[in-house]
Amino acid sequence: MSPTVSDESVVDESGADVLTAPGEDAAKPVSDTPLFDTLVVVGPGLIGSSVLRRAQQKRTLARQLIAVDVSPEVRARVEELGIADRVMADVAEAAALADCVMLCVPVGAMGPVAALALPAMRPGSILTEVGSTKVSVIEAISPFLRPDVAYVPAHPMAGTEYSGPDAGFATLFENRWCLLTPLEGTPPEALAAVRTLWERCGSRLREMDPAHHDRVCAIVSHLPHLLAFTICGTADDLADETRSEVLDFAASGFRDFTRIAASDPVMWRDVFLANREALLEMLARFMEDAQAMARAIRWGDEAYIVDRIQRGRAIRKSLIENQQA
Ligand code: NAP
Repeated sequence: MSPTVSDESVVDESGADVLTAPGEDAAKPVSDTPLFDTLVVVGPGLIGSSVLRRAQQKRTLARQLIAVDVSPEVRARVEELGIADRVMADVAEAAALADCVMLCVPVGAMGPVAALALPAMRPGSILTEVGSTKVSVIEAISPFLRPDVAYVPAHPMAGTEYSGPDAGFATLFENRWCLLTPLEGTPPEALAAVRTLWERCGSRLREMDPAHHDRVCAIVSHLPHLLAFTICGTADDLADETRSEVLDFAASGFRDFTRIAASDPVMWRDVFLANREALLEMLARFMEDAQAMARAIRWGDEAYIVDRIQRGRAIRKSLIENQQA
């Protein structure tokens, strides 16, 4: 399926006091009136705490910020960091106060957490989430949806290998893509509001069909993580088997893999299982291409080897040009 690309402005601003938020079109006036009265962020980890930090810094996202977490340690840390106006333990209690609830929990927890939040939400409010996979998360949340609460699935394409409330930072989404995968029934006003939220976080926005999203992310994000976890495991096994110093001399190439491989196990377990089909399809493609490279090396096919390396270099160059490197 091809993506529905929409870059048109949907922000209807009052035009009163205006400022330009970083990442937004400089020509586009942005009201400094908070977008929401109360924004509830469930799961103030890397992504959730980055949204809170950004929201707190600019105060153009919401007048009141509420963080919700099941763990007393995380709640205490969020209080200490001072990145929310209120910190709560009960999802439903917090959701009842919100005009927007943003779920920032691992994709496997989206359904159960939405089931707690949705019955408590106010008519006319918005449920959004940031899951790295879209089809499975939409399927998990759909049974609990209500006609009077809008649901806007989103995926900010920004992250680091760190997790938890200390890992977040206000500029995480700056100039990064945020993919919105609205459903047929998603009200345009709710979609516009979530779009504005991410614009005010500094993101670039695209709309995409959820299944297309999952295929794109399988190749640009999920497969690279799978390769990183695997290559680190292989190197570790080799070091054990040969009692050699494989890992002592982990120079630049391997070191880059280890950075990706340091990512959170729960998050990535959930992503791999949630995007199983698209990921396995991309892995099969990759293995065919890796076999072709192996064949070229075996038979000394210099032209093939050089062509592949040049393609890699060209991709890196275009990422740098697009400020995505
Ligand atoms: P994170 O730093 O590990 O934060 C996850 C948060 O969810 C934590 O506050 C955690 O609370 C909470 N949580 C975990 N399991 C839960 C459960 N069963 N019920 C309720 N809360 C639960 O993870 P993250 O990197 O921010 O990822 C959050 C979401 O963003 C995921 O859906 C991920 O796919 C998506 N995402 C991640 C990235 C990335 O690169 N990291 C990028 C884009 C989108 P405790 O600490 O108390 O367990």
